[in-house]
Amino acid sequence: MDRTVFLQVALDTPLYQTFDYLLPKDSDATPKAGVRIEVPFGRRRMVGIVYAVTDHCNYPIEKVRRAYQVLDETPLLQTIDLEFARWLAHYYLQPIGQVISAMLPSGLRQGKVLELIDRKIKFWQISPRGRHIELEYFRRSPKQRQVIELLQSRHLPTPQHRLIQEGFTPALLKRLQLDELIETANPLPILDNNSSNSIVEAEAPLTLNLEQLNAVNTINQAKGFKVYVLFGVTGSGKTEVYLQTISRVLEKNKQALVLIPEINLTPQALHIFQKRFQRKIVFLHSKCTEKERHQAWYSASSGNADIVIGTRSSIFTPMPRLGIIIVDEEHDLSYKQQDGFGYSARDCAVYRGLKVNVPVILGSATPSLETWNNISNIEITNMEINSAELKSTKNESKKYTLLTLSKRVENATMPNLYIADLRHENRQSGIAHRLVEKIREHLTAGQQVLIFLNRRGFAPSVFCNDCGWIIHCALCDARMTYHLRESILRCHHCEYHTSVPERCSQCNSRDLTTAGQGTEQIESYLEKTIKGTVIRIDRDTTQHKAAFEKKISEIHAGKPALLIGTQMLAKGHHFPKLTLVIILNSDAGLFSSDFRATERTLQLLAQVSGRAGRAETQGEVWVQTHHPQHPIYQLWLQNNYAEVARYLLQERKAALLPPFSHHILIRAESPQRHYAEEFLIAVNRYFLGNFKSEELFQRTAENILVLGPANVNMERKAGRHRLQTLLQSPNRKALHRMVQHKLALIHNLPEAKRVRWRMEVDPQELN
Ligand code: ADP
Ligand code: ZN
Ligand code: ZN
Repeated sequence: MDRTVFLQVALDTPLYQTFDYLLPKDSDATPKAGVRIEVPFGRRRMVGIVYAVTDHCNYPIEKVRRAYQVLDETPLLQTIDLEFARWLAHYYLQPIGQVISAMLPSGLRQGKVLELIDRKIKFWQISPRGRHIELEYFRRSPKQRQVIELLQSRHLPTPQHRLIQEGFTPALLKRLQLDELIETANPLPILDNNSSNSIVEAEAPLTLNLEQLNAVNTINQAKGFKVYVLFGVTGSGKTEVYLQTISRVLEKNKQALVLIPEINLTPQALHIFQKRFQRKIVFLHSKCTEKERHQAWYSASSGNADIVIGTRSSIFTPMPRLGIIIVDEEHDLSYKQQDGFGYSARDCAVYRGLKVNVPVILGSATPSLETWNNISNIEITNMEINSAELKSTKNESKKYTLLTLSKRVENATMPNLYIADLRHENRQSGIAHRLVEKIREHLTAGQQVLIFLNRRGFAPSVFCNDCGWIIHCALCDARMTYHLRESILRCHHCEYHTSVPERCSQCNSRDLTTAGQGTEQIESYLEKTIKGTVIRIDRDTTQHKAAFEKKISEIHAGKPALLIGTQMLAKGHHFPKLTLVIILNSDAGLFSSDFRATERTLQLLAQVSGRAGRAETQGEVWVQTHHPQHPIYQLWLQNNYAEVARYLLQERKAALLPPFSHHILIRAESPQRHYAEEFLIAVNRYFLGNFKSEELFQRTAENILVLGPANVNMERKAGRHRLQTLLQSPNRKALHRMVQHKLALIHNLPEAKRVRWRMEVDPQELN
């Protein structure tokens, strides 16, 4: 007798397990792992992925239900992708079903029919015989007649599961096929409007300089997995290194996966790839339509596309011929998912490279400290720390190879750096008069100027001159930002907005004024003060993708212009005409409670500065500050990121902070503060036998530090109170093991039902 076959199905539920099902009725073959399947779940129908096929089941067999139907003939995910999912679920402490679901484009995950793109699904159409058959023929089988009528009325092939949804069985369809009344068909041809095929003329590779050549040669020699940190100063030609290594990968008939941060996604950047390679390139990013995403995903996972360029989530794209993974601007925060399961696309890239056994390039002018600390061919810290804790963790991490591009390409040099000491400068609308003069000089000389200010709107705060009352968001612990053109107050942390009040709500005074400056104010001041074109780029002026692209092209056209921008404009771009950069209000980064703030500020300063002087003309960069002696500015002035990394890593080591220890953050939020608090206390009790709520930090038996429950900096956001517990240990394995063991228990806590909570591994932002 046949053994019964069980399907372990991954379903998008918050449970840390797969679910067992029996084969669908009438199934002619056992499905392969990686196909989608429709199953009953409670009283619902759900679409899941067959995770494994086994001959045993942990569940009482009489309770195992039958799956409804298999949706794909060939798997959407291959074994290696499923293993990747398993690792992700394990490492990020997430339910496997949710992880797998996050790996699929949304339409696929909902079980949508892929008429347009999925060649693997069975499609039916009427046959020549069926088209002319008299309906009288089906007197005794109304069901058959219905199918024929239906297919006769359709011009396009119909997917089998559509027909099944309408109540027809596969057996019935087979019957009609045997009678040559209907036939299987190909779906519609694949439309590839999201890809490029020889639309631009091929461009020859550039002649590499020595450092680039060394980088390319070293990477090309890689046999299998190896991580290369391409540490190239801004404007050193990292892209050219990517292009020439990719070209070698393509010669070997392999695929390349290139990750870029969201903000870098300019048509210019993509154009570079299209020009170089007469190959099939697909793009995956947040602004893709669902259809574009499907098509790109399908092209990549069928092995059809040669190059996949995408933002964070494209790291999950199945690629059967994967030959290299490149992560550009690897330090960028946009690689870390801030909600959902909180993965880091950079870290996933390294794991995937290892799994698939291909090289990984992490490129940046300002690598993250986590990455820097993994480099084997430099001396990082020269300070001995006498910590038993630290020594107990094996140094298995020094495994990346550093490749340096220390100079800008051709005749370009690094910009000169200056500080404007605001304590001694006259200024208006937040800009020193001296710098306004500088702007005029550069514009008159035919150059472009960038003012960087990471704050949109007109003014970040509105207050009463008589009593000092400050207008706050009704839902957040945050001030309202004044937007002049819209004449409205907006909260930048939630959707809340309101009209500007005429009077103070405390003392009824009419004397309300603004404090501080946002990009809108800088724009309106400078438009009046200097002659010439002013281009502001921030979220408010680029609501439409087209608007952003138009402004960027205008800058590339090269006419003299003053650019005012937030970080959208600060990173990655190559504007040859830009010679002066002015950074306003970077002091905000000096006093943050997040231990990563220094690293972030220095990266941002280096990136923004890096926009100046990228061609022949020498650039200059000015930072305005009230704290010129602050170590951050002193480090910045040295213009030596390797030194920055060395210095910061020493600090981290002394304080036993990442990368010398590891973090897991448990976040909870609720409209009622005490619910969030009670949940975290209950969680802490699982870790600490006798948790004392009056102590802010305690140690578990495994010597893991438990900090919390503590308030997040802006405790209330969008009407919810946010609290967190931080777990810290130099021993990652012990930390993960402890939490792993309690996951299911935490999930089942009655307190968990009253809050929104999530577990975040390697959190990048602690506020
Ligand atoms: P990065 O990403 O390192 O900041 P880019 O890759 O944007 O720098 O390169 C800056 C400019 O230098 C680009 O216009 C690029 O085409 C050009 N470039 C790169 N390598 C070379 C080279 N070997 N010779 C001439 N120009 C180059
Ligand atoms: Zn008042
Ligand atoms: Zn708000």
